[in-house]
Amino acid sequence: MSQLAINGGKSVRKKLFPAYKFIGREEKAAVNKVMDSGILSRYLGCWHDDFYGGLEVRAFEKEWADYFKVKHAIAVNSCTSGLQCAIGAIGIEPGDEVIVSPYSMCVSATAPLWYGGIPVFADIEEKYFCLDPKSVESKITKKTKAIIVVDLFGQPYDAVAINKIARQHNLFVIEDCAQAPGAKLGKKFAGTLGDIGVYSLNYHKHIHTGEGGVVVTDNDELADRVRLIRNHAEAVVEEKGTKNLVNMVGFNFRLTEIQAAIGRAQLKKLQKLIKSRQRNCFYLNKELSKIPGIKIADIRPGASHIYYVQPFLYDEKITGVSRDKFIGAVKAELPATRLRECEGQQISVGYNKPLYLLPLFQQQLAFGRSGYPFKSQFCKKGTSYNKGLCPVSERMYEKELFSHEFMRPPVTRKDLDDVISAFNKVYRFRDQLK
Ligand SMILES: *Cc1c(COP(=O)(O)O)cnc(C)c1O
Repeated sequence: MSQLAINGGKSVRKKLFPAYKFIGREEKAAVNKVMDSGILSRYLGCWHDDFYGGLEVRAFEKEWADYFKVKHAIAVNSCTSGLQCAIGAIGIEPGDEVIVSPYSMCVSATAPLWYGGIPVFADIEEKYFCLDPKSVESKITKKTKAIIVVDLFGQPYDAVAINKIARQHNLFVIEDCAQAPGAKLGKKFAGTLGDIGVYSLNYHKHIHTGEGGVVVTDNDELADRVRLIRNHAEAVVEEKGTKNLVNMVGFNFRLTEIQAAIGRAQLKKLQKLIKSRQRNCFYLNKELSKIPGIKIADIRPGASHIYYVQPFLYDEKITGVSRDKFIGAVKAELPATRLRECEGQQISVGYNKPLYLLPLFQQQLAFGRSGYPFKSQFCKKGTSYNKGLCPVSERMYEKELFSHEFMRPPVTRKDLDDVISAFNKVYRFRDQLK
């Protein structure tokens, strides 16, 4: 035990960790019911009662809206398509600026582009990694129309400060809640804190339908427009009598009856899954925070964190070893990751590279070769996505942040103890890494 596994010593653990797999009897029964009906989707892309989908889709939407205490829930086939609907619904036009986070999954920043909108990056909070209200405020111009906030890692954005800024400047707030379904700020659920919220039901999230998403809003008009964009708007606006034709080119973003049935069964499991993630993180927090140089990330006052991943801050000045070396050594103490069905270590350093550093933004090439919308008549002043744009995000990515997913049930205390042992061992023998 005195030699680190990365240097050829014996590792702390060889046995894989249990997989996060909560598709079970309930989902199978729900799917079979749909299979027996023979109706796997009931949408029609024309003005008809079935424009809004079949029985399972509608029941799922009703249950989602009830659970999250919101007026409208609109099922879509991904969070990506949901964000696209949201951007279209609020009427983003070519050249409109939308303030986005660089520290998220890519679509949180690319969504405005589908309508010619210009993503403008604001930096994140050092403590909670969501958009920093001060930075947001400094990015507002006459062209700003909206802010896409992200409830990163499982806790809500600073809705009090950012919603206030949005009201002052007449901006829409779109909330990307892919990582925080069930987190709360005060009495309100994340996802319902802005004007429109979007959840993901992809395979990696707290609950899933394989692929899927849900858009929520209390605003009747926005809900109507999202439903239109979801399902071939252009084909129905005439008969439906829709007057506002802005962004009424529709798509097929429809969730199937099978997915909706799975979603209904999954929603019933959400609360329990969150509780056990929180219990496990609480235990890890207590033990891992004893290691000098490793700091548990804070939870926003008044908020609950539901741990899509658990973030930590690393201080190389205290350990004397870089984050990447340290975490690399921890990984070597634990079994390597394989498939979702039998998992190994689930630790990652830095999260995503700040999104403005992606080739899309660096080259400013999105649709065709002209540079639209970045270099076009709609964006005369041009826009820059230089390195250094969001220093906190860059620092987190390069040096300070790491995160893990070991808290996912059904891990046991014993599993978590192995993780803790791996960290402790690497800390104790960190001199071997120098
Ligand atoms: C997963 C994720 C998405 C995308 O969700 P899909 O359903 O795969 O489109 C968007 N934003 C964030 C923050 C995510 O974590």
